[in-house]
Amino acid sequence: MTSFKQEEQLQAELADLAALGLSRRRRVLESACGRMATVDGQEVLNFASNDYLGLAGNPEIAQAMAAGALRWGAGSGASHLVSGHLEPHEQLEKELAGFLGFPRTLTFSTGYLANLAIIPTLAGRGAAVFADKLNHASLIDAVQLAKAQGAESHRYPHNDVAALEKMLAASTARTKLIVTDAVFSMDGDFALLPVLVELAERYDAWLVVDDAHGFGILGPHGEGSLAHFNLGFHPRLVLMGTLGKAAGVSGAFVAGSETLIEFLLQRARSYIFTTAAPPAVACALSRSLQIIADGKALRSNLLARIGQLRDGLTGLPWTLLPSATAIQPLIVGENEAALQLSQKLWTRGLWVPAIRPPTVPKGTARLRISVSAAHTAADIDTLIKALKELS
Ligand code: PMP
Repeated sequence: MTSFKQEEQLQAELADLAALGLSRRRRVLESACGRMATVDGQEVLNFASNDYLGLAGNPEIAQAMAAGALRWGAGSGASHLVSGHLEPHEQLEKELAGFLGFPRTLTFSTGYLANLAIIPTLAGRGAAVFADKLNHASLIDAVQLAKAQGAESHRYPHNDVAALEKMLAASTARTKLIVTDAVFSMDGDFALLPVLVELAERYDAWLVVDDAHGFGILGPHGEGSLAHFNLGFHPRLVLMGTLGKAAGVSGAFVAGSETLIEFLLQRARSYIFTTAAPPAVACALSRSLQIIADGKALRSNLLARIGQLRDGLTGLPWTLLPSATAIQPLIVGENEAALQLSQKLWTRGLWVPAIRPPTVPKGTARLRISVSAAHTAADIDTLIKALKELS
């Protein structure tokens, strides 16, 4: 056989990744997502999921999904605009709108697809996108698509609203989009949403808010980051929330004005050209939404665990970023050091992932400790004790 140069090139790149300590590997779970995970027959405490309310394994939600599958079948059969929009999808969109206090919502199979729908659909030729430098990869990719359509893109330093304002003031673009995570996925801090809403008004812009890590856990009923800041519906807001994290299932929504949602439904390619999620997923999400709305106890448990962890991690050689959310990042620095710390925790039965570039900036490799309402006080103590011993 002749040598296949392209494959050799891939092998060389994979070897480079390995040499830099950047190779990823998947661990196979032998248990359902929950407080504990079984891997290779070993039980570990799970601080690695985004299952912030512990709903991924909730039996009532699983029941709703099973009943939904028996009633509605396994698949939707088509995209929403063809014949794949079933009653459970329609009902979920209405329930989400009511829950959020927004006029209308549109659901997607994933948050990645929802972000790919929002940005290029609103920002074509003549538009300018202004994005926080620490935005999630799915928003970054969505901006790339907008650029391919002729939009300009600008990135402002993380949460630097003064720099953003200068950029907005200097822009002559016909359409402007400010784009931000609400809770930054690797730092756990908040975007300055009240200021961003004001800037959107003053500079006649859309404000796209990705609330993947706020929905379900923030606000009095889990409405998310807007409610945390006492904000609600605003016609300039494009609110995206994911349903595979705190909601414990899968999927995402975009919430906004009637006009905005109708426009996305008519024009967003990642909405139109993909098969609708299984209706049973929508059935599960309807149940999850009720549990979230009644989930005060879950949220206060989560807050207590976050506070306990933060109190316990003072005085360590690593920097715990100032986060009030379920994402608690412990900055280690070098890739190898973060990996080793993660590995040492693993051997003690604690699963805390190391996050490395390109997911986070160079030199800021970290442990991303994900706290869940499913954790007990003893779980958090076990982690604190282990980190102290390893410091
Ligand atoms: N936005 C943010 C901020 C996220 O963290 C994620 C998931 N990691 C997504 C969007 C994508 O959501 P999904 O996993 O549903 O595609």
